[in-house]
Amino acid sequence: MRFTYPLALAAAFVAAPALADTTVVHAGNVITDADSEPMGPATITVTDGRIVSVARGWNAAPEGAETVRLEGMTVVPGLIDLHVHLTGDPGGDFWKGAVEPEEWGVVVGAKNAAKTLRAGFTTVREAGSAQHSGFALRRGTEEGMIEGPRIVAAGPSLAIVGGHGDVSGFRPEVNAVLTSGYTCTGAVECAAKVRRASQNGSDVIKITATGGVLSQQGRGLEAHFSDAEMTSIADTAHSLGLQVMAHAHGARGIEAAARAGIDSIEHATYLDEAAADAMKANGTVLVPTLMAFQGVTERLGQGIYTPVVEAKIRAVAETAKVFMGKAYRWGVPIAFGTDAGVFDHGRNAEEFALMVAQGMSHREAFASATTVAAGVLQMEGEIGRLAPGYSADMIAVAGNPLEDVTVLENVDWVMVRGRIID
Ligand SMILES: [Zn+2]
Repeated sequence: MRFTYPLALAAAFVAAPALADTTVVHAGNVITDADSEPMGPATITVTDGRIVSVARGWNAAPEGAETVRLEGMTVVPGLIDLHVHLTGDPGGDFWKGAVEPEEWGVVVGAKNAAKTLRAGFTTVREAGSAQHSGFALRRGTEEGMIEGPRIVAAGPSLAIVGGHGDVSGFRPEVNAVLTSGYTCTGAVECAAKVRRASQNGSDVIKITATGGVLSQQGRGLEAHFSDAEMTSIADTAHSLGLQVMAHAHGARGIEAAARAGIDSIEHATYLDEAAADAMKANGTVLVPTLMAFQGVTERLGQGIYTPVVEAKIRAVAETAKVFMGKAYRWGVPIAFGTDAGVFDHGRNAEEFALMVAQGMSHREAFASATTVAAGVLQMEGEIGRLAPGYSADMIAVAGNPLEDVTVLENVDWVMVRGRIID
């Protein structure tokens, strides 16, 4: 647990305990979690950022409490996106990496954190940023200095030299200056880089296990790390209590990552049945990021991307419409993540319709962004449902997401950690 300096000072100088800060929410309807039915009009009492009770009917508020009236609205748990890049906006200008300092990513990220929160996402997993920008945003939203979701941050992703996640496309001497310092070769160096990431503040280790679509390197979409390297990364991370999320497109790269003990596969475009079996056998979760494919496809043919990137986008476009459905039918566990930053931040909830289009039920899609995502983050006692003791992360929408999950695209009211976003 971290305390801000001013809070610590206040604690030192104020003898009496602070008065509890209570908010009472009168909702037209409440869905406490994806496994429960709507409970009708209900009262949610929040004290000091935590849910104290969820009770049927509109009960009188205790004296001094703030009351919020959400008549005609359904209050549901705040949404969780397991794959965002807050510090970036969409666009193909890879050269900006050479001219924009890391500090600029914090400014862009503060804007995007607010957009993401207002879209109903009260927790996000930051899936790769510069060394300090994602961590600075994490602290800023935690301390309430900037508006935004709770952030579980990876920091810089681990990559092979010149692979997706490393710098490429410049002259060698420019690449050498711009590299994040988190490339590794061999099991020993990869273990060392995981430890370095942990030392520097990573909540989760992100690796780019295969080639990717938006990098300037065109070395295919199959496995980049060797089996020994991936096993070393997974074992080292787990020994530090950290999970590993692996960007992977090619089937053999997915299979190898699952066998190595990687915890979640991001994208998984070319998943086949053997790779799906490996994921199921190892309890590996799929984070499909269907909006990423949607976003890059919308930008094709406009001179935004370089020829090498355009070719890769066209190669994955059709597969992107069906692969999650296959994974679903093969029984791979699926959790919600979008890759926001590849498309405009704030459109995250459009992912739900794409998931349903590939065969998921509305209820399952809602669960994927609440209870299931909370489980992936190992925060199932903290977020993802409305219950006593949980963080007061909740949103209000018109309609019932269990029947039509796209109602989550229009969020009318947001509370994060007990704070109301006006
Ligand atoms: Zn990503």
